[in-house]
Amino acid sequence: MKKIQIRCPYCGAKATLRPSSAVYGNAAKKEGYLYVCDRYPKCDAYVAAHRKSRLPMGTLANGDLRHKRIEAHKAFDWMWRSGLMSKRQAYKWMQAKLGLNEKQAHIAKFSEYMCDQLIAICTQAYDNIRAA
Ligand SMILES: [Zn+2]
Repeated sequence: MKKIQIRCPYCGAKATLRPSSAVYGNAAKKEGYLYVCDRYPKCDAYVAAHRKSRLPMGTLANGDLRHKRIEAHKAFDWMWRSGLMSKRQAYKWMQAKLGLNEKQAHIAKFSEYMCDQLIAICTQAYDNIRAA
């Protein structure tokens, strides 16, 4: 397991890999790990870790950004869940539309601005489909 050092983009403190129960309490449905800001809960920033590698899935997010990322995921997932395109095609489409490379095209890495951009292009795509 590779140990990596990441910092909280909000307060600059270190983020530590902790079991998700540290944040979700006993309500944590699935075991898993999160990178949590060392100033948590004063600083409400964390991000999920990949199950196997335990590397962070993206950048630490506070409540507002987490909410935005969930919204962006819902909008984007519809593009491929609807059968309109494959998941792979949907990621290619996102990259082309937002000018991102493959590494950047992950919602867990998005800022609020990028989430808004993604929601906007998805909304536009639905409107085009509905109008067709
Ligand atoms: Zn912090």
